[in-house]
Amino acid sequence: MTGGNLLNEDDVEAVFRHLSQAMPGRTATAKGPKDQPDPFRSVVSCVLSAQSRDANTQLATDRLFALATTPDAILALDDAAIAAAIKPCGLYNMKTRSLRKLCTALIERHDRTVPRTRDGLMSLPGVGRKCADIVMSFVFDEDVIAVDTHVHRVSNRIGLTDATSADRTARQLEERAPEWALRDGHFWLIQFGKAVCVSRRPKCETCPVNHLCLSFSALARV
Ligand code: SF4
Repeated sequence: MTGGNLLNEDDVEAVFRHLSQAMPGRTATAKGPKDQPDPFRSVVSCVLSAQSRDANTQLATDRLFALATTPDAILALDDAAIAAAIKPCGLYNMKTRSLRKLCTALIERHDRTVPRTRDGLMSLPGVGRKCADIVMSFVFDEDVIAVDTHVHRVSNRIGLTDATSADRTARQLEERAPEWALRDGHFWLIQFGKAVCVSRRPKCETCPVNHLCLSFSALARV
């Protein structure tokens, strides 16, 4: 271990090795978000997902795509129709404006094609690092550890990263995770965060990486 809030390289590698044995990785059926292999639909879903539960985002996306499935078709809808369709995901007036900007950018700057690179994706209105990485990982099948709230929490508790935001966690994981862990790392960490290192009352006593975890060793010293 390091003396600070970060594990050293060997221990980072050891954590990923343990997680790879304890948790399921990427499977053939792992598509996302929520079975949306279409890049445009996936980007739209990401924009709709801000401060929304997965089920509500899914419902809003389904309702919108029942009306329109392309940037041009969405722009042809009036604001009220878009807002009504996406209402389940909340913030629907703001998200309606975001969707219009997204569709306009795709048409005017990207020939109606969702970019495949992180920079290209992040140049789209409403698309941040998390959305870009999710699309890259799930839709374009790139080896990227997308960082959601579970991955962020777990990474920083263990000491894989010492970041205060999910975007910084993503950047640190990109630098610090071993190459072989980039493909499935998102899946191991997210499953681990849901099953073991849960938000409240993490199951530290039975945790397979408690001998490496900096939060656990800090608690033991108290
Ligand atoms: S020891 Fe506790 S805090 Fe550390 S990774 Fe395991 S469950 Fe999370």
